[in-house]
Amino acid sequence: MQDVPTGPVGEDADRIISVLKRRRTVQIVGLVILVVFTAVAILSRLADYPVLGLPSSFWVALAVGLLIAKLLLNILGWRCPKCGGRLGSGYSPKYCSNCGFRFVPDNKERNGS
Ligand SMILES: [Zn+2]
Repeated sequence: MQDVPTGPVGEDADRIISVLKRRRTVQIVGLVILVVFTAVAILSRLADYPVLGLPSSFWVALAVGLLIAKLLLNILGWRCPKCGGRLGSGYSPKYCSNCGFRFVPDNKERNGS
């Protein structure tokens, strides 16, 4: 049976997509960590309350450090597994704008049509 290659196909495509999913998970976990610690910093600052015995200045510095780390993680880690090109700001890219590799099959892209 010969399928028309409309989306990612083959073992190499499976490997590329699994690498992309792993990278997406790392990005999302990093984002969640950043949001949680930023919230702790803001609340500690606003309430002037030492969370876990640490002053709000500690939490603000930690949040700023995590923000920088997240930006670096995004710049260095959120890249196409095939060509290494940047994937942009969204975490569900349909294709790589650099090499054109499709991460989703055609039928998943057009929902409801
Ligand atoms: Zn690419």
